[in-house]
Amino acid sequence: MSATVTVIDRNRGITPRVFDRAGTQTQDPAIAAKLAQLQAAAKGRDARGIIEPALESQPHGKTAVVSSFGAESAVLLHLVAQVDPTTPILFLNTGKLFGETLRYRDRLQDELGLTDIRSLGPHPADRARFDPEGTLWSRDTDACCNFRKVIPLRHALEGFTAQITGRKKFQTNARAEMQAVEYFEGRFRFNPLADWSLADLEKYTTEHNLPRHPLSEDGYPSIGCMPCTRRVAAGEGYRDGRWAGLDKDECGIHTGLDGEGI
Ligand code: SF4
Repeated sequence: MSATVTVIDRNRGITPRVFDRAGTQTQDPAIAAKLAQLQAAAKGRDARGIIEPALESQPHGKTAVVSSFGAESAVLLHLVAQVDPTTPILFLNTGKLFGETLRYRDRLQDELGLTDIRSLGPHPADRARFDPEGTLWSRDTDACCNFRKVIPLRHALEGFTAQITGRKKFQTNARAEMQAVEYFEGRFRFNPLADWSLADLEKYTTEHNLPRHPLSEDGYPSIGCMPCTRRVAAGEGYRDGRWAGLDKDECGIHTGLDGEGI
């Protein structure tokens, strides 16, 4: 079998993949008007003030949260649980996650009272076709993320009219352009934490005594799949432990297909 190798060249800089580009994708004047209205309503509001209209502007149960249950996920999940703990939470269980993440998901479900966490996974036929040995991540990370994350999430989002993400502007260059409310791939996308810093997240976590991901205090400031996440050393960047050495800083799920920056 021939292998496709992902380019390893961080010096070229990271080109934003299409899925994480900011912007609005609609030619429909009615949707554009609604988007403008939601963006105006979000101006100057805090995170809860963006989450409330994200849920209330759509039919009940038609807004989903996409969460990785990673290092910072508790903040968004806590905020959402305060507004409506029955909100559907989409969680991508790629089959390559740390056991700590699965246990953290269960703990947050219990402690925050979330009633509708939905675990998504790759279709068995795709797994057999694309990655029968489970080693595709070592040859082609984009292809691996595509069938383990992008495709399952795209299917899962089909029934929803809006999604809430935990993405922050500081996370990547591409995300720096995001707005609090966007329209992407056929649905509204709310980013209530867009302007939050790491210090803001830490402050909220401490103030609300939220459980921390077990790996976050063990040198993992950003946590994804086990084969593609490593500890960061002193002086390294926040996401340098993700796909280390590769020209890749996103998995692709925020196409409407990165969660929160999964
Ligand atoms: S992060 Fe790594 S293991 Fe997980 S889906 Fe992407 S390439 Fe595969």
